[in-house]
Amino acid sequence: MKYSLVAGYFEKLEGTSGRLEMTEILASLFKDTPKSDLPILAYLMQGKLRPDYEGVELGIAEKLALRALATASGKTAQEVKDAYIKAGDIGSAAQALLKGGAGRERQGSLLSEPLTLRRVYDSLLSIAKTSGGGSIDSKLRELVSLLNDATPVEAKYILRTAMGVLRLGVADYTILDGAAVGLLGDKAHRKVLERAYNVTSDLGFVVGVAAEEGLAGVEKIHLEVGKPIRPMLAERLKSAQAILDQIGKPVAAEYKLDGERLQMHKDGDKVELFSRRLERITSNYPDVVRYVRSYVKSKRAVLEGEVVAINADSGEYLPFQELMHRRRKHGIEEMMKQYPVAVNFFDALNVDGKDITGRTYLKRRAQLERVVQVTEFTRPVPSKMVETTKEMEEFMELAISEGCEGIMAKKPDGIYRAGAREFGWIKLKREYSSELTDTIDLVIVGAFHGRGRRTGVYGAYLLAAYDSKRKVFPTVTKIGTGFSDADLERFPKLLAQYESHVKPPDVESGLVPDIWYRPRVVIETIASEITLSPIHPAAMNELRPGSGLALRFPKFTGKIRDEKGPEDATTVKELVEMYSMQKRVQSKA
Ligand code: AMP
Repeated sequence: MKYSLVAGYFEKLEGTSGRLEMTEILASLFKDTPKSDLPILAYLMQGKLRPDYEGVELGIAEKLALRALATASGKTAQEVKDAYIKAGDIGSAAQALLKGGAGRERQGSLLSEPLTLRRVYDSLLSIAKTSGGGSIDSKLRELVSLLNDATPVEAKYILRTAMGVLRLGVADYTILDGAAVGLLGDKAHRKVLERAYNVTSDLGFVVGVAAEEGLAGVEKIHLEVGKPIRPMLAERLKSAQAILDQIGKPVAAEYKLDGERLQMHKDGDKVELFSRRLERITSNYPDVVRYVRSYVKSKRAVLEGEVVAINADSGEYLPFQELMHRRRKHGIEEMMKQYPVAVNFFDALNVDGKDITGRTYLKRRAQLERVVQVTEFTRPVPSKMVETTKEMEEFMELAISEGCEGIMAKKPDGIYRAGAREFGWIKLKREYSSELTDTIDLVIVGAFHGRGRRTGVYGAYLLAAYDSKRKVFPTVTKIGTGFSDADLERFPKLLAQYESHVKPPDVESGLVPDIWYRPRVVIETIASEITLSPIHPAAMNELRPGSGLALRFPKFTGKIRDEKGPEDATTVKELVEMYSMQKRVQSKA
């Protein structure tokens, strides 16, 4: 197919804004295109060369595009730059500069080959894939050669595409409308095409199948191991009641973790990881690759989960920012040791090579529980069937006290709707949020054995506030973050004299540590906020029946408050005040 035909259609599309009109133009473009060229045409219309997940990046530097244009037009660098700035766009600049004498028009159409769609595509692909030493020169040569054979209009679209700034203004779904009419003869078939696109994330592939095999072929397209599916998204509602009204009873409530979404594809020993945006991010998480290989009990599977940074020594969840250390190209092995992660799996989309996205949540969850082995680093995300607002709220408090953002409420009989944001999944976050700036002084009342680097020492401590009314020390948090190696060494020595193998009578705790301490040593902490918690007994039932207060993301500041006795620790009353203040700050915001 001649590229001039394509460029002509692009011009028409650019001049159109109505969706109906666009659909007509697209349908006729699809009819005019030979079957074998349809996939590459579809990618080019999206401004791409391959589906996103292959990571083929268009987008040569502006400097290179300008140099190519200068060479092809015979103008000076300054003239090209001026024209570019005046036009405000590389395509229009090219069109203006090449008009009347440059490019193919200059050489005379008899001398040069008309450009084909295939040649433009192949050249752009080779430019995108060229890297390393000498790559600039070879990219430049390739581009100049295309421009030399291009008409001004063709050059406009070639350069825009090469720089990654082709904006035809056609949404993917409009392209599908066009394919439905042009290739399947009926706009109603858009739905089928759309589903196929959502499960493969590959528009070129879907359009190709439509052309070669018709409707029946498209209907057979399923989620495949190795090709990422467009993720199902969540709606949000404000309260547990609203969720029950929407979904009905019961609701499947799950922890909503604050990490990164991963789509994990397993094919025997081969594991690929895709981000929420469907980028291939396998190399960022060699540890997750190993977990999936070893702890997913299915040879071929596609699972979704949230990867969370954890404290290496205590296993506690860390805030999302800690994961950012993994977003790098080099030194991943080192980062992996410093910033270990755990995966909470929340959906099974393909098990044993079979697409199960059409099954209900409950059935998929059963499969998930069957194939995901529970280890230190892997587990199906905690979930609970709830029927009342109270049950849902309690589960949410539990989630938050364990470092989660809130809960994800799911419709038990809902299927996996790829690419859709609907009420099958609803997120519920706690109703306020503001950073605590105050430090909180707490008493050490227990310790938990460490893991990993902290084997042999304690990895986390149990901390209590002081209830001055009742003269007891109710716990408010387990803490493992902020301790230096030196701290870990000296703490057991410092505390040894207060060790207790039974719970000291003046301590109230919902957790049982490996060793108790009589409340003596006070340390300073900071936290992101104070939350309601069904676990910790501080201020139990005061703010809500069945709930006490807890710290979210607590961290040791490094200060042991030698000068303070246990009764000088932050009191429960102060914590209640701090909690109410957070709420006020929130309602003002
Ligand atoms: P949001 O990014 O706020 O729209 O929330 C949706 C995101 O929550 C998903 O993309 C996941 O990354 C994340 N998430 C955490 N836990 C879950 C869960 N149990 N089910 C689904 N998504 C979850």
